[in-house]
Amino acid sequence: MGPPSIEEGIEHAGRGTPPTARSAVARLKVRSVVTLLVAVCLSMSAIVIWEAWNSRQYHLRDKEVAMSNLAQTLASQAQATIKQADTLLFSLVERLEYEPLDAVGLAHLERLLSAQRSELRQLHGLFVYDETGRWVANSNGAVMPDANNADREYFIFHRDHPDRGPHIGPSIKSRSSGEWIMTVSRRINHADGRFAGVVLATIYLDHFLSLYDSIDMGRNGVINLITDDARIVVRRPFKESEVGTSIAKGPLFQQLLPTGDAGTATVKSMVDGVERVVGFRRVDGYPLIVFAALNKDEVLAGWREVSLLSAAIVAVLLGFIGVLGYRLIGLMKRQNRVQNDLLDAQDKLLEVNRGLKLLALEDALTGLSNRRQFDLFIHAEMDRARRVQSGLAILMIDVDHFKPFNDQYGHVAGDECLRRISAIITQHIECPGGLAARYGGEEFAVVLPGTDYVGAFLLGENIRHAVLQAGICHSGRADGVVTVSLGVAAFDPASQAQPDDLIHAADKALYVAKASGRNMSVIAN
Ligand code: GH3
Ligand code: MG
Ligand code: MG
Repeated sequence: MGPPSIEEGIEHAGRGTPPTARSAVARLKVRSVVTLLVAVCLSMSAIVIWEAWNSRQYHLRDKEVAMSNLAQTLASQAQATIKQADTLLFSLVERLEYEPLDAVGLAHLERLLSAQRSELRQLHGLFVYDETGRWVANSNGAVMPDANNADREYFIFHRDHPDRGPHIGPSIKSRSSGEWIMTVSRRINHADGRFAGVVLATIYLDHFLSLYDSIDMGRNGVINLITDDARIVVRRPFKESEVGTSIAKGPLFQQLLPTGDAGTATVKSMVDGVERVVGFRRVDGYPLIVFAALNKDEVLAGWREVSLLSAAIVAVLLGFIGVLGYRLIGLMKRQNRVQNDLLDAQDKLLEVNRGLKLLALEDALTGLSNRRQFDLFIHAEMDRARRVQSGLAILMIDVDHFKPFNDQYGHVAGDECLRRISAIITQHIECPGGLAARYGGEEFAVVLPGTDYVGAFLLGENIRHAVLQAGICHSGRADGVVTVSLGVAAFDPASQAQPDDLIHAADKALYVAKASGRNMSVIAN
Protein backbone atom coordinates (compact mmCIF):
# COMPACT_ATOMS: atom_id res chain seq x y z
CA MET A 1 0.00 0.00 0.00
CA GLY A 2 1.44 3.41 -1.01
CA PRO A 3 1.35 6.64 0.96
CA PRO A 4 -2.09 8.32 1.23
CA SER A 5 -2.98 10.81 -1.46
CA ILE A 6 -3.53 14.49 -0.68
CA GLU A 7 -7.28 13.95 -0.99
CA GLU A 8 -7.16 11.02 1.42
CA GLY A 9 -5.10 13.13 3.81
CA ILE A 10 -7.60 15.97 3.70
CA GLU A 11 -10.49 13.56 4.03
CA HIS A 12 -8.84 11.85 6.96
CA ALA A 13 -8.21 15.20 8.68
CA GLY A 14 -11.81 16.29 8.27
CA ARG A 15 -13.33 12.95 9.19
CA GLY A 16 -14.46 11.98 12.67
CA THR A 17 -15.20 15.58 13.77
CA PRO A 18 -18.61 16.73 12.69
CA PRO A 19 -19.12 20.54 12.39
CA THR A 20 -21.33 20.77 15.54
CA ALA A 21 -18.71 18.89 17.59
CA ARG A 22 -15.97 21.13 16.14
CA SER A 23 -17.75 24.33 17.17
CA ALA A 24 -18.55 22.80 20.59
CA VAL A 25 -14.82 22.08 21.06
CA ALA A 26 -13.97 25.64 19.94
CA ARG A 27 -16.53 27.10 22.36
CA LEU A 28 -15.13 24.91 25.12
CA LYS A 29 -11.62 26.20 24.41
CA VAL A 30 -12.78 29.83 24.57
CA ARG A 31 -14.74 29.10 27.75
CA SER A 32 -11.68 27.45 29.31
CA VAL A 33 -9.58 30.52 28.55
CA VAL A 34 -12.27 32.81 29.98
CA THR A 35 -12.51 30.61 33.10
CA LEU A 36 -8.73 30.60 33.46
CA LEU A 37 -8.52 34.38 33.13
CA VAL A 38 -11.37 34.95 35.59
CA ALA A 39 -9.73 32.48 38.02
CA VAL A 40 -6.37 34.28 37.73
CA CYS A 41 -7.98 37.69 38.28
CA LEU A 42 -10.06 36.48 41.22
CA SER A 43 -7.04 34.75 42.79
CA MET A 44 -4.90 37.88 42.44
CA SER A 45 -7.66 40.04 43.92
CA ALA A 46 -8.21 37.57 46.76
CA ILE A 47 -4.47 37.47 47.54
CA VAL A 48 -4.22 41.28 47.58
CA ILE A 49 -7.32 41.65 49.76
CA TRP A 50 -6.08 38.92 52.10
CA GLU A 51 -2.64 40.53 52.30
CA ALA A 52 -4.12 43.98 52.92
CA TRP A 53 -6.42 42.61 55.63
CA ASN A 54 -3.54 40.80 57.35
CA SER A 55 -1.32 43.85 57.17
CA ARG A 56 -4.14 46.00 58.60
CA GLN A 57 -4.63 43.61 61.52
CA TYR A 58 -0.87 43.57 62.07
CA HIS A 59 -0.71 47.39 62.10
CA LEU A 60 -3.58 47.65 64.60
CA ARG A 61 -2.16 44.88 66.81
CA ASP A 62 1.27 46.50 66.73
CA LYS A 63 -0.14 49.84 67.89
CA GLU A 64 -2.32 48.17 70.51
CA VAL A 65 0.82 46.61 72.00
CA ALA A 66 2.58 49.98 71.86
CA MET A 67 -0.37 51.64 73.63
CA SER A 68 -0.44 48.92 76.25
CA ASN A 69 3.27 49.46 76.95
CA LEU A 70 2.78 53.22 77.04
CA ALA A 71 -0.16 52.88 79.47
CA GLN A 72 2.02 50.76 81.72
CA THR A 73 4.87 53.29 81.69
CA LEU A 74 2.54 56.23 82.34
CA ALA A 75 0.75 54.34 85.12
CA SER A 76 4.13 53.77 86.80
CA GLN A 77 4.98 57.44 86.37
CA ALA A 78 1.61 58.57 87.83
CA GLN A 79 1.95 56.10 90.68
CA ALA A 80 5.46 57.33 91.54
CA THR A 81 4.40 61.01 91.34
CA ILE A 82 1.34 60.58 93.54
CA LYS A 83 3.09 58.18 95.91
CA GLN A 84 5.68 60.84 96.75
CA ALA A 85 2.98 63.38 97.66
CA ASP A 86 0.85 60.80 99.44
CA THR A 87 3.75 59.62 101.57
CA LEU A 88 4.09 63.19 102.83
CA LEU A 89 0.34 63.31 103.53
CA PHE A 90 0.47 60.01 105.38
CA SER A 91 3.22 61.16 107.76
CA LEU A 92 1.49 64.55 108.16
CA VAL A 93 -1.76 62.87 109.28
CA GLU A 94 0.22 60.71 111.77
CA ARG A 95 1.86 63.77 113.21
CA LEU A 96 -1.31 65.91 113.43
CA GLU A 97 -3.32 63.17 115.07
CA TYR A 98 -0.74 62.45 117.79
CA GLU A 99 0.73 65.93 118.37
CA PRO A 100 -1.97 68.62 118.75
CA LEU A 101 -0.72 71.95 117.37
CA ASP A 102 0.12 75.04 119.37
CA ALA A 103 1.34 78.31 117.82
CA VAL A 104 4.99 77.21 117.79
CA GLY A 105 4.12 73.86 116.35
CA LEU A 106 2.08 75.53 113.65
CA ALA A 107 4.96 77.74 112.57
CA HIS A 108 7.23 74.73 112.58
CA LEU A 109 4.70 72.75 110.53
CA GLU A 110 4.43 75.46 107.91
CA ARG A 111 8.22 75.56 107.54
CA LEU A 112 8.24 71.78 107.19
CA LEU A 113 5.48 71.87 104.56
CA SER A 114 7.31 74.55 102.64
CA ALA A 115 10.57 72.58 102.76
CA GLN A 116 8.85 69.39 101.63
CA ARG A 117 7.11 71.19 98.79
CA SER A 118 10.33 72.62 97.49
CA GLU A 119 11.80 69.10 97.43
CA LEU A 120 9.21 67.84 94.96
CA ARG A 121 8.99 69.74 91.68
CA GLN A 122 5.55 68.36 90.79
CA LEU A 123 4.10 69.59 94.06
CA HIS A 124 2.01 72.75 93.86
CA GLY A 125 1.33 72.81 97.59
CA LEU A 126 0.58 71.04 100.86
CA PHE A 127 -2.42 72.18 102.90
CA VAL A 128 -4.04 71.44 106.23
CA TYR A 129 -7.72 72.25 106.95
CA ASP A 130 -9.59 71.84 110.20
CA GLU A 131 -13.00 70.15 110.52
CA THR A 132 -14.77 73.37 109.45
CA GLY A 133 -12.72 73.80 106.27
CA ARG A 134 -10.65 76.64 107.62
CA TRP A 135 -7.03 76.93 106.45
CA VAL A 136 -4.77 75.75 109.27
CA ALA A 137 -1.40 75.55 107.54
CA ASN A 138 0.03 75.52 104.03
CA SER A 139 3.36 75.14 102.30
CA ASN A 140 2.95 78.25 100.17
CA GLY A 141 3.03 80.86 102.91
CA ALA A 142 -0.42 82.06 101.89
CA VAL A 143 -2.20 83.96 104.64
CA MET A 144 -5.93 83.60 104.08
CA PRO A 145 -7.64 84.05 107.43
CA ASP A 146 -11.17 84.05 105.98
CA ALA A 147 -10.62 81.37 103.36
CA ASN A 148 -12.69 78.24 103.74
CA ASN A 149 -12.43 75.10 101.69
CA ALA A 150 -15.41 73.28 103.15
CA ASP A 151 -17.04 73.47 99.74
CA ARG A 152 -14.26 71.51 97.95
CA GLU A 153 -15.04 68.02 96.79
CA TYR A 154 -12.13 66.42 98.71
CA PHE A 155 -13.26 68.10 101.96
CA ILE A 156 -16.83 66.94 101.60
CA PHE A 157 -15.63 63.44 100.67
CA HIS A 158 -13.43 63.01 103.77
CA ARG A 159 -15.99 64.61 106.05
CA ASP A 160 -18.58 62.10 104.85
CA HIS A 161 -16.34 59.02 104.50
CA PRO A 162 -14.42 57.48 107.37
CA ASP A 163 -11.89 55.84 104.97
CA ARG A 164 -8.26 56.52 105.87
CA GLY A 165 -6.85 55.92 102.41
CA PRO A 166 -5.78 58.57 99.95
CA HIS A 167 -8.48 60.27 97.89
CA ILE A 168 -7.98 61.76 94.48
CA GLY A 169 -10.62 64.31 93.65
CA PRO A 170 -11.45 66.15 90.46
CA SER A 171 -8.74 68.47 89.19
CA ILE A 172 -9.33 72.10 90.16
CA LYS A 173 -8.02 75.56 89.63
CA SER A 174 -6.01 76.65 92.65
CA ARG A 175 -7.64 79.34 94.75
CA SER A 176 -4.22 80.58 95.75
CA SER A 177 -2.38 80.53 92.38
CA GLY A 178 -5.06 80.01 89.70
CA GLU A 179 -3.18 77.03 88.23
CA TRP A 180 -4.70 73.69 87.28
CA ILE A 181 -3.91 71.13 89.93
CA MET A 182 -4.67 67.58 90.91
CA THR A 183 -5.71 66.97 94.50
CA VAL A 184 -4.54 64.09 96.68
CA SER A 185 -5.96 64.16 100.17
CA ARG A 186 -6.30 62.21 103.41
CA ARG A 187 -8.65 62.53 106.37
CA ILE A 188 -7.48 63.62 109.82
CA ASN A 189 -9.32 62.11 112.79
CA HIS A 190 -9.72 63.15 116.39
CA ALA A 191 -8.65 60.57 118.94
CA ASP A 192 -12.24 59.31 119.18
CA GLY A 193 -12.43 58.86 115.42
CA ARG A 194 -14.47 61.95 114.64
CA PHE A 195 -13.58 64.04 111.61
CA ALA A 196 -10.83 66.50 112.45
CA GLY A 197 -9.93 67.94 109.04
CA VAL A 198 -8.13 67.23 105.80
CA VAL A 199 -4.53 67.25 104.59
CA LEU A 200 -4.17 68.02 100.94
CA ALA A 201 -1.35 67.78 98.42
CA THR A 202 -1.86 69.51 95.10
CA ILE A 203 0.13 68.44 92.07
CA TYR A 204 0.55 70.58 88.96
CA LEU A 205 -1.39 69.12 86.02
CA ASP A 206 1.45 70.59 83.94
CA HIS A 207 3.72 68.00 85.48
CA PHE A 208 1.69 65.34 83.67
CA LEU A 209 0.93 67.39 80.60
CA SER A 210 4.57 68.24 79.88
CA LEU A 211 5.37 64.53 79.90
CA TYR A 212 2.30 63.63 77.84
CA ASP A 213 3.06 66.35 75.31
CA SER A 214 6.59 65.04 74.86
CA ILE A 215 5.22 61.71 73.59
CA ASP A 216 4.51 61.46 69.88
CA MET A 217 0.84 60.55 69.74
CA GLY A 218 0.11 61.89 66.27
CA ARG A 219 -2.32 64.71 65.64
CA ASN A 220 -5.32 63.03 67.23
CA GLY A 221 -3.72 60.85 69.92
CA VAL A 222 -5.02 61.04 73.48
CA ILE A 223 -3.59 60.37 76.93
CA ASN A 224 -6.04 60.42 79.83
CA LEU A 225 -5.62 60.12 83.55
CA ILE A 226 -9.04 59.23 84.92
CA THR A 227 -10.34 58.66 88.42
CA ASP A 228 -12.04 55.44 89.41
CA ASP A 229 -15.40 57.18 89.28
CA ALA A 230 -14.78 58.02 85.60
CA ARG A 231 -13.86 61.72 85.89
CA ILE A 232 -11.08 63.09 83.73
CA VAL A 233 -8.16 64.27 85.89
CA VAL A 234 -5.95 65.36 83.04
CA ARG A 235 -6.20 64.90 79.33
CA ARG A 236 -3.86 65.45 76.43
CA PRO A 237 -4.76 67.48 74.38
CA PHE A 238 -5.70 69.74 77.29
CA LYS A 239 -9.04 71.53 77.34
CA GLU A 240 -10.22 73.16 80.54
CA SER A 241 -13.83 72.30 79.75
CA GLU A 242 -13.01 68.58 79.69
CA VAL A 243 -11.41 68.44 83.14
CA GLY A 244 -13.77 66.66 85.53
CA THR A 245 -16.00 65.43 82.71
CA SER A 246 -17.47 61.99 83.40
CA ILE A 247 -16.76 59.29 80.85
CA ALA A 248 -18.65 56.63 82.78
CA LYS A 249 -20.74 55.88 79.69
CA GLY A 250 -17.72 55.60 77.39
CA PRO A 251 -16.24 52.34 76.12
CA LEU A 252 -13.43 52.34 78.72
CA PHE A 253 -15.85 51.93 81.60
CA GLN A 254 -18.56 50.10 79.71
CA GLN A 255 -16.49 47.58 77.76
CA LEU A 256 -12.84 47.53 78.73
CA LEU A 257 -12.46 47.87 82.49
CA PRO A 258 -15.07 45.16 83.21
CA THR A 259 -12.72 42.73 81.40
CA GLY A 260 -9.62 43.54 83.47
CA ASP A 261 -7.30 46.12 85.02
CA ALA A 262 -5.22 46.47 81.86
CA GLY A 263 -5.75 45.78 78.20
CA THR A 264 -5.93 46.97 74.63
CA ALA A 265 -8.69 47.45 72.09
CA THR A 266 -9.93 49.55 69.20
CA VAL A 267 -12.88 51.68 70.35
CA LYS A 268 -14.75 54.89 69.60
CA SER A 269 -14.26 57.76 72.03
CA MET A 270 -17.35 59.23 73.64
CA VAL A 271 -15.56 62.56 74.14
CA ASP A 272 -14.85 63.37 70.48
CA GLY A 273 -16.38 60.41 68.61
CA VAL A 274 -13.00 59.44 67.10
CA GLU A 275 -12.16 55.74 66.73
CA ARG A 276 -8.88 54.93 68.50
CA VAL A 277 -6.45 52.14 69.18
CA VAL A 278 -6.20 52.19 72.97
CA GLY A 279 -4.17 50.79 75.84
CA PHE A 280 -5.27 51.23 79.48
CA ARG A 281 -4.06 50.29 82.95
CA ARG A 282 -5.11 50.94 86.54
CA VAL A 283 -2.52 52.83 88.60
CA ASP A 284 -1.23 50.58 91.36
CA GLY A 285 -2.52 51.55 94.80
CA TYR A 286 -4.51 54.62 93.64
CA PRO A 287 -8.03 54.99 92.25
CA LEU A 288 -6.73 56.09 88.86
CA ILE A 289 -6.63 54.72 85.36
CA VAL A 290 -4.22 55.67 82.59
CA PHE A 291 -5.57 55.55 79.07
CA ALA A 292 -3.41 56.06 75.96
CA ALA A 293 -4.91 56.06 72.50
CA LEU A 294 -3.88 56.68 68.90
CA ASN A 295 -6.24 57.77 66.17
CA LYS A 296 -7.11 54.67 64.17
CA ASP A 297 -7.10 56.64 60.92
CA GLU A 298 -3.56 57.86 61.63
CA VAL A 299 -2.43 54.37 62.66
CA LEU A 300 -3.74 53.02 59.38
CA ALA A 301 -2.55 55.92 57.22
CA GLY A 302 0.73 54.20 56.27
CA TRP A 303 -1.01 50.91 55.76
CA ARG A 304 -3.64 52.61 53.61
CA GLU A 305 -0.99 54.21 51.43
CA VAL A 306 0.83 50.91 50.85
CA SER A 307 -2.41 49.02 50.33
CA LEU A 308 -3.69 51.58 47.85
CA LEU A 309 -0.40 51.40 45.99
CA SER A 310 -0.46 47.62 45.78
CA ALA A 311 -4.18 47.72 44.88
CA ALA A 312 -3.36 50.19 42.11
CA ILE A 313 -0.52 47.98 40.84
CA VAL A 314 -2.76 44.91 40.91
CA ALA A 315 -5.56 46.87 39.24
CA VAL A 316 -3.15 47.85 36.45
CA LEU A 317 -2.01 44.22 36.17
CA LEU A 318 -5.60 43.00 36.14
CA GLY A 319 -6.44 45.59 33.52
CA PHE A 320 -3.47 44.42 31.49
CA ILE A 321 -4.52 40.78 31.85
CA GLY A 322 -8.09 41.79 31.03
CA VAL A 323 -7.06 43.58 27.84
CA LEU A 324 -4.74 40.74 26.84
CA GLY A 325 -7.42 38.19 27.66
CA TYR A 326 -10.02 40.13 25.72
CA ARG A 327 -7.73 40.26 22.70
CA LEU A 328 -6.76 36.62 23.11
CA ILE A 329 -10.40 35.56 23.26
CA GLY A 330 -11.14 37.76 20.25
CA LEU A 331 -8.26 36.12 18.40
CA MET A 332 -9.42 32.66 19.41
CA LYS A 333 -12.94 33.41 18.25
CA ARG A 334 -11.62 34.77 14.98
CA GLN A 335 -9.34 31.77 14.63
CA ASN A 336 -12.27 29.44 15.32
CA ARG A 337 -14.35 31.23 12.70
CA VAL A 338 -11.52 31.01 10.17
CA GLN A 339 -10.95 27.37 11.08
CA ASN A 340 -14.65 26.61 10.70
CA ASP A 341 -14.71 28.41 7.36
CA LEU A 342 -11.66 26.43 6.29
CA LEU A 343 -13.19 23.17 7.45
CA ASP A 344 -16.44 24.04 5.65
CA ALA A 345 -14.43 24.82 2.52
CA GLN A 346 -12.59 21.55 3.04
CA ASP A 347 -15.90 19.67 3.32
CA LYS A 348 -17.04 21.28 0.10
CA LEU A 349 -13.75 20.42 -1.58
CA LEU A 350 -14.06 16.84 -0.43
CA GLU A 351 -17.59 16.76 -1.80
CA VAL A 352 -16.36 18.15 -5.12
CA ASN A 353 -13.45 15.76 -5.01
CA ARG A 354 -15.74 12.80 -4.54
CA GLY A 355 -17.76 14.04 -7.52
CA LEU A 356 -14.59 14.44 -9.55
CA LYS A 357 -13.51 10.97 -8.58
CA LEU A 358 -16.78 9.60 -9.85
CA LEU A 359 -16.41 11.62 -13.02
CA ALA A 360 -12.90 10.29 -13.42
CA LEU A 361 -14.31 6.80 -13.47
CA GLU A 362 -17.28 7.63 -15.70
CA ASP A 363 -17.61 8.19 -19.40
CA ALA A 364 -18.91 11.65 -20.02
CA LEU A 365 -20.95 10.88 -23.14
CA THR A 366 -22.76 7.72 -22.12
CA GLY A 367 -22.61 7.75 -18.31
CA LEU A 368 -21.18 4.24 -18.42
CA SER A 369 -17.96 3.38 -16.59
CA ASN A 370 -14.87 4.44 -18.45
CA ARG A 371 -11.93 2.36 -19.48
CA ARG A 372 -10.11 2.96 -16.20
CA GLN A 373 -13.03 1.78 -14.10
CA PHE A 374 -13.40 -1.22 -16.40
CA ASP A 375 -9.76 -2.20 -15.88
CA LEU A 376 -10.02 -1.88 -12.07
CA PHE A 377 -13.26 -3.84 -12.03
CA ILE A 378 -12.15 -6.70 -14.24
CA HIS A 379 -8.91 -7.13 -12.28
CA ALA A 380 -10.75 -7.15 -8.97
CA GLU A 381 -13.46 -9.50 -10.21
CA MET A 382 -11.04 -11.93 -11.80
CA ASP A 383 -9.06 -12.10 -8.56
CA ARG A 384 -12.24 -12.74 -6.63
CA ALA A 385 -13.47 -15.31 -9.15
CA ARG A 386 -10.16 -17.09 -8.83
CA ARG A 387 -10.37 -16.98 -5.03
CA VAL A 388 -13.96 -18.25 -4.81
CA GLN A 389 -13.64 -20.40 -7.91
CA SER A 390 -16.65 -18.86 -9.59
CA GLY A 391 -17.22 -18.04 -13.23
CA LEU A 392 -16.86 -14.70 -15.00
CA ALA A 393 -17.56 -13.67 -18.54
CA ILE A 394 -17.11 -10.59 -20.69
CA LEU A 395 -18.79 -9.18 -23.75
CA MET A 396 -17.12 -6.90 -26.28
CA ILE A 397 -19.78 -5.00 -28.21
CA ASP A 398 -19.03 -2.96 -31.33
CA VAL A 399 -21.47 -0.90 -33.36
CA ASP A 400 -21.60 -2.08 -36.96
CA HIS A 401 -20.67 0.32 -39.73
CA PHE A 402 -20.70 3.26 -37.41
CA LYS A 403 -18.37 5.33 -39.50
CA PRO A 404 -20.89 5.50 -42.37
CA PHE A 405 -23.61 6.31 -39.78
CA ASN A 406 -21.60 9.26 -38.59
CA ASP A 407 -20.88 10.29 -42.11
CA GLN A 408 -24.53 10.09 -43.04
CA TYR A 409 -26.30 11.49 -39.95
CA GLY A 410 -23.60 13.60 -38.43
CA HIS A 411 -21.59 13.42 -35.24
CA VAL A 412 -24.37 14.64 -32.96
CA ALA A 413 -26.69 11.88 -34.15
CA GLY A 414 -23.76 9.49 -33.72
CA ASP A 415 -23.42 10.54 -30.10
CA GLU A 416 -27.12 10.09 -29.50
CA CYS A 417 -26.95 6.66 -31.07
CA LEU A 418 -24.10 5.72 -28.72
CA ARG A 419 -26.14 6.96 -25.74
CA ARG A 420 -29.16 4.85 -26.74
CA ILE A 421 -27.08 1.72 -27.16
CA SER A 422 -25.43 2.42 -23.77
CA ALA A 423 -28.86 2.65 -22.14
CA ILE A 424 -29.90 -0.66 -23.68
CA ILE A 425 -26.73 -2.35 -22.41
CA THR A 426 -27.22 -0.88 -18.92
CA GLN A 427 -30.83 -2.14 -18.75
CA HIS A 428 -29.72 -5.66 -19.58
CA ILE A 429 -26.89 -6.00 -17.14
CA GLU A 430 -28.60 -4.50 -14.07
CA CYS A 431 -29.89 -7.90 -12.95
CA PRO A 432 -26.73 -9.99 -13.20
CA GLY A 433 -24.84 -7.23 -11.37
CA GLY A 434 -22.33 -6.67 -14.12
CA LEU A 435 -20.43 -3.60 -15.18
CA ALA A 436 -20.76 -1.93 -18.56
CA ALA A 437 -18.00 0.35 -19.82
CA ARG A 438 -17.29 2.37 -22.90
CA TYR A 439 -14.17 0.65 -24.04
CA GLY A 440 -13.35 3.12 -26.76
CA GLY A 441 -15.07 4.96 -29.67
CA GLU A 442 -18.16 2.93 -30.55
CA GLU A 443 -17.01 -0.15 -28.66
CA PHE A 444 -18.40 -1.30 -25.27
CA ALA A 445 -17.25 -3.95 -22.81
CA VAL A 446 -19.38 -5.74 -20.24
CA VAL A 447 -18.02 -7.71 -17.27
CA LEU A 448 -20.40 -10.31 -15.89
CA PRO A 449 -19.22 -11.80 -12.59
CA GLY A 450 -20.56 -15.27 -11.70
CA THR A 451 -21.65 -15.88 -15.30
CA ASP A 452 -20.43 -18.61 -17.62
CA TYR A 453 -20.16 -18.28 -21.41
CA VAL A 454 -23.68 -19.62 -22.00
CA GLY A 455 -25.26 -17.04 -19.74
CA ALA A 456 -23.05 -14.37 -21.28
CA PHE A 457 -23.95 -15.41 -24.79
CA LEU A 458 -27.66 -15.33 -24.01
CA LEU A 459 -27.33 -11.91 -22.46
CA GLY A 460 -25.31 -10.71 -25.43
CA GLU A 461 -27.98 -11.97 -27.77
CA ASN A 462 -30.63 -10.13 -25.76
CA ILE A 463 -28.65 -6.92 -26.09
CA ARG A 464 -28.13 -7.45 -29.80
CA HIS A 465 -31.87 -8.04 -30.29
CA ALA A 466 -32.76 -5.05 -28.20
CA VAL A 467 -30.50 -2.82 -30.31
CA LEU A 468 -32.08 -4.24 -33.44
CA GLN A 469 -35.54 -3.72 -31.97
CA ALA A 470 -34.66 -0.17 -31.05
CA GLY A 471 -34.75 0.50 -34.81
CA ILE A 472 -32.23 3.30 -34.95
CA CYS A 473 -32.43 4.21 -38.61
CA HIS A 474 -29.33 3.47 -40.70
CA SER A 475 -30.73 3.64 -44.23
CA GLY A 476 -27.47 2.75 -45.94
CA ARG A 477 -27.37 -0.79 -44.39
CA ALA A 478 -29.09 -3.96 -45.39
CA ASP A 479 -31.16 -4.13 -42.18
CA GLY A 480 -31.97 -0.39 -42.40
CA VAL A 481 -31.24 -0.02 -38.68
CA VAL A 482 -28.19 0.16 -36.44
CA THR A 483 -26.88 -3.24 -35.29
CA VAL A 484 -24.11 -4.44 -33.02
CA SER A 485 -21.70 -7.37 -33.12
CA LEU A 486 -20.56 -9.15 -29.95
CA GLY A 487 -17.61 -11.25 -28.88
CA VAL A 488 -18.15 -13.43 -25.80
CA ALA A 489 -15.39 -14.87 -23.63
CA ALA A 490 -15.61 -16.71 -20.29
CA PHE A 491 -12.96 -17.12 -17.60
CA ASP A 492 -12.00 -20.51 -16.24
CA PRO A 493 -11.07 -20.01 -12.58
CA ALA A 494 -8.77 -22.98 -12.74
CA SER A 495 -6.72 -21.32 -15.49
CA GLN A 496 -3.92 -18.81 -15.13
CA ALA A 497 -5.65 -16.44 -17.56
CA GLN A 498 -5.21 -12.71 -16.97
CA PRO A 499 -7.71 -9.91 -17.77
CA ASP A 500 -5.86 -9.10 -20.99
CA ASP A 501 -6.18 -12.72 -22.12
CA LEU A 502 -9.91 -12.59 -21.58
CA ILE A 503 -10.28 -9.26 -23.39
CA HIS A 504 -8.12 -10.50 -26.18
CA ALA A 505 -10.25 -13.64 -26.54
CA ALA A 506 -13.47 -11.59 -26.58
CA ASP A 507 -11.94 -9.25 -29.15
CA LYS A 508 -11.04 -12.14 -31.39
CA ALA A 509 -14.57 -13.49 -31.15
CA LEU A 510 -15.86 -10.00 -32.02
CA TYR A 511 -13.56 -9.93 -35.03
CA VAL A 512 -15.01 -13.25 -36.12
CA ALA A 513 -18.55 -11.83 -35.72
CA LYS A 514 -17.60 -8.86 -37.89
CA ALA A 515 -15.97 -11.03 -40.41
CA SER A 516 -18.97 -13.33 -40.44
CA GLY A 517 -21.34 -10.59 -41.51
CA ARG A 518 -21.94 -8.57 -38.31
CA ASN A 519 -25.13 -8.32 -36.17
CA MET A 520 -24.28 -11.55 -34.36
CA SER A 521 -22.69 -12.86 -31.16
CA VAL A 522 -19.69 -15.18 -31.32
CA ILE A 523 -18.25 -17.15 -28.39
CA ALA A 524 -14.48 -17.30 -28.15
CA ASN A 525 -13.13 -20.79 -28.42
P1 GH3 B 1 -17.21 -1.87 -38.33
O1 GH3 B 1 -18.54 -2.33 -38.60
O2 GH3 B 1 -16.13 -2.68 -38.95
O3 GH3 B 1 -16.98 -1.67 -36.90
O4 GH3 B 1 -17.12 -0.47 -39.03
P2 GH3 B 1 -17.11 0.94 -38.33
O5 GH3 B 1 -17.33 1.97 -39.29
O6 GH3 B 1 -18.06 0.93 -37.19
O7 GH3 B 1 -15.68 1.01 -37.73
P3 GH3 B 1 -14.57 2.12 -37.81
O8 GH3 B 1 -13.50 1.72 -36.80
O9 GH3 B 1 -14.09 2.21 -39.17
O10 GH3 B 1 -15.21 3.48 -37.45
C1 GH3 B 1 -15.58 3.83 -36.12
C2 GH3 B 1 -16.17 5.15 -36.12
O11 GH3 B 1 -16.79 5.52 -34.90
C3 GH3 B 1 -15.19 6.22 -36.45
C4 GH3 B 1 -15.68 7.41 -35.71
O12 GH3 B 1 -16.20 8.38 -36.58
C5 GH3 B 1 -16.84 6.86 -34.91
N1 GH3 B 1 -16.77 7.33 -33.56
C6 GH3 B 1 -15.85 6.95 -32.61
N2 GH3 B 1 -16.10 7.61 -31.45
C7 GH3 B 1 -17.20 8.41 -31.66
C8 GH3 B 1 -17.94 9.29 -30.86
O13 GH3 B 1 -17.66 9.53 -29.74
N3 GH3 B 1 -19.00 9.94 -31.41
C9 GH3 B 1 -19.37 9.74 -32.69
N4 GH3 B 1 -20.41 10.37 -33.18
N5 GH3 B 1 -18.67 8.92 -33.45
C10 GH3 B 1 -17.61 8.24 -32.97
MG1 MG C 1 -17.75 -0.46 -35.54
MG1 MG D 1 -14.85 -0.30 -33.68
